[in-house]
This record gives sequence, structure tokens and C-alpha cells, in this order.
Amino acid sequence: MAEIRSMLRILPLTDVLIMMSIQEKFVIPAAPFARNMTQIQTAIEKSLARPLTTLSEDEQMFRDSVREFAEGEIRKRVEEMDEQGHLDSALMKQCFELGLMGIETPEEFGGAGGSFFQAILAVEELSRVDASVGVFVDVQNTLVNNAIIRWGNQGQKKKYLSQLATELVGAYALSEAGSGSDAFAMQTRAVDAGDHFVLNGRKLWITNGKEAEVFVLFANANPEAGYRGITAFIVEKSTEGFAVGKKENKLGIRASSTTELILEDCQVPKENVLGEIGRGYKVSIETLNEGRIGIGAQMIGIARGALESALAYTTERQQFGKSVNEFQGVQFQLAEMATDLEAARLMVYNAARMKDAGQNFVKEAAMAKLYSSRAAERITSKAIELYGGYGYVKDYPVEKYWRDSKIGAIYEGTSNMQLQTIAKLMIGGK
Ligand SMILES: Cc1cc2nc3c(=O)[nH]c(=O)nc-3n(C[C@H](O)[C@H](O)[C@H](O)COP(=O)(O)OP(=O)(O)OC[C@H]3O[C@@H](n4cnc5c(N)ncnc54)[C@H](O)[C@@H]3O)c2cc1C
Repeated sequence: MAEIRSMLRILPLTDVLIMMSIQEKFVIPAAPFARNMTQIQTAIEKSLARPLTTLSEDEQMFRDSVREFAEGEIRKRVEEMDEQGHLDSALMKQCFELGLMGIETPEEFGGAGGSFFQAILAVEELSRVDASVGVFVDVQNTLVNNAIIRWGNQGQKKKYLSQLATELVGAYALSEAGSGSDAFAMQTRAVDAGDHFVLNGRKLWITNGKEAEVFVLFANANPEAGYRGITAFIVEKSTEGFAVGKKENKLGIRASSTTELILEDCQVPKENVLGEIGRGYKVSIETLNEGRIGIGAQMIGIARGALESALAYTTERQQFGKSVNEFQGVQFQLAEMATDLEAARLMVYNAARMKDAGQNFVKEAAMAKLYSSRAAERITSKAIELYGGYGYVKDYPVEKYWRDSKIGAIYEGTSNMQLQTIAKLMIGGK
């Protein structure tokens, strides 16, 4: 078995599959080869049948290194960043250095060439300590890089993916003041002016808006065609006519910037159209389908952070002459929280592994986001109660976990919109 494992490590899966298809096609009788192939096939099947939460060696190493970074570098800065409402620039730099800003980006473009599941693990681990760092990395990977990997041409990939993996922060700009859930009702317009488009309008609520240099931004280039006029653009911050507006002062994920974007006769070269003109609706739907799993990961990270804190505190806190978690009432609450988290985690991991396996994951992603955001709210709220009065003040971490959890039910599609997606996929119809 160890030998097979080492073979599997040496042989990329694609090579194994090619060998298997050659064997099938030519019915190669060579016994040792056939034996090897059977063993390899069994090993592949076994590895595919892994429990959802069992990590491969690579995944485990990756998870551990993100955890070490979160514990060693992020934790000591969390309180100050939350209070001041901005991310520490040294931390952002470290996210690039550690390869966290281009997890799925192919190595030829300077990325880590990892899986979507690894991106999910990173967002979970970071959010366990600070959900603002979690969403900083999440938006870069699951929305911005993802859109360019999927829809960008070779020139765009070469130029932007490598910069996004190594030095530039990205943002994803769809929402406007008048169009959130009804995103395709956007008023930002793009007018064809020969070799470039002229963009006018305003975007609202844009995560990473303050730090970003590259924006995947949506505008309607043919309003008469309705949503079929929506076009995705890659807009650089330095483009004339582009400005970052007001930064929001928020309830939670306070260190993550959320800003307005202002486009006034902003000239975007035609080569910066991402995908086809009029197909931006598809770019946005498909990237957000994946993005939702990232938000699910943020939520299970927050919930885990809160549960671990509550477990430690209730062990330490003495009332009536003993630790409060010696009371069955407290034990049952901790057990409920752990069960809720386990369910959410399985849903998020399953949706992510379905995505990596090339299966249709849209319903599972919506369910995972819906459930995990609700679970995070329940678990963080209960954590505050288990801390008693100490849970209500900023000297302890749990009130922040609760504030941070609330956004899960709002961005990348509100809970009602997730329910709508799930119902549509169950029942059918428009
Ligand atoms: C902190 C933060 C960060 C964000 N980051 C980004 C970002 O990076 N990029 C980006 O593009 N956007 C971002 N957003 C915007 C976010 O995606 C929207 O706020 C969200 O989609 C909801 O839109 P809305 O605020 O306009 O609410 P509305 O759409 O006005 O919804 C109001 C209420 O009506 C309900 N509702 C609306 N339509 C229906 C319906 N058909 N059926 C049932 N109920 C309905 C909603 O569920 C909600 O409860 C961010 C928002 C926040 C707060």
C-alpha cells in the first residue's frame, strides 16, 4: 500500500488515467502492468472514498501552515484592526508571500496551483482567528482570480493573474445602491467608443475596495437587451475617471474595507473586457456560485473560533465551586454547538469537493452558505451567553465573532436569495 501511495504521488492523476485508458483500449495483457493498474485503481477509489473531513497529506500540511500564520501573526493584531477598521499592511504582504492570494492560480502564472478545497481550508482557518482576513483572501481567490482563470484570455491571465498572486489586491464590483439582490438591474453603463469603453456609474459595498488595484467590475453595455447587455471588465485603479468613494463603518468584519466606487467617463480598453460582451451575467452568476462556498468557509471558521473560546472559558470559569462546564446544562449547550458546526462543516466541505470533482454544486453551495451562516449566528450568540457578562464586553473575543457572523446572511446573496436558488433547483421554473 505504501508503494502505491508513493506511486500515486509520483504519477499525476492524469497520467494514471491515460495509462488506464490505453490499457482499456488495447486490452494489454501484460500481467504486472495490469496488476499495477488494478492496485492503482483501487488506491484511487479508496482515496476518493475518503470521509469529507479527512484531509490528504497535502491538505493537512497546507491547513497547518495557514493555522500557524493565523495564530502567530494575525491573532495578536485582531483587536486593534477591528477597533481601527483596517487591515495591517504587513499582514496583507504576508498573505502574498505565503501564496494565499493565488491558491488556485496555475503555477505558470505565479500561483500555488492548488485546489478550490485548499482555498476553502485557508478561508476557514483565517476566519477562525479573524473573519476580516478571511474575506480579504476569500474575495481574491474565489471571486477575482476565479473569474479571470475561468473567463480571461491568455493575455489577461498572463498580466493580471501573476500580479494578483504576488502583489496586487483585487475586488469584485457588482452591487449598486439600487441593485443588490436584483443585481442585473444595475445602472452602471458602458458605451462603446472604438478601441475602448466609457464607463459611468457607481458601485456600492465593494469588499477590499480600499486596498484593491484590480477590479472585476460589471456594467451594462446594451441596456435595451436587459441582462444580456451586462459585461464584465477588468478595471485598474489607476484608470482615469475611476475613484474609490466612501468607506463604510460597519457592525462586523470591521477591518475588511467596504467602499463605494465612482466611475466618471472611465475609459477602459477593449482588451480589458472579461469574457464576451453581453455575457457578464454569466460571469457573475458562475463566480458567485463558487464564492458562496467561500462565505460558508468563513462562517464555519467564525463558528469554530467561538466554540473553541467557549469551551476553554467554561472549563476555566468557576461557579458554585466548580468549572461551569461540569454542569450538564452547559455541557448540552456545548454539544449542540459542536453538532451544529459539524453539520455546517460537512455541507461546506461537500460543496467544495463537488466543485473540485467537476460536479454540479450550485444547490449544495446555496445550502451550505444558508446553513453555515445561520449556524455561525447561533453558535456565536450562544458563546456570548456561556461567557456570561464577560461575553458582552470587548475584552473577550466572542462578541466580535457574533458581530462578524451577521454578514454571512447578507453578502453574495441574502438568505432569501439562497432559499430562492434552492427552491428553483428543486421545483424548476424561472
Ligand atoms: C460588508 C459587505 C460587503 C459586501 N461586499 C460586496 C462585494 O465585494 N461586491 C459586491 O458586488 N457586493 C458586495 N456586497 C453587497 C451585497 O452582496 C448586497 O448587500 C446583497 O446582495 C443584498 O443586496 P441589498 O443590500 O441591496 O439588499 P436588497 O436586495 O435590497 O434586500 C433587502 C431585503 O429584501 C430581501 N429580498 C430582496 N429580493 C427578494 C426576493 N426576490 N425574494 C425574497 N426576498 C427578497 C432580501 O433577502 C433582504 O432581506 C457587500 C455587502 C456588505 C454589507
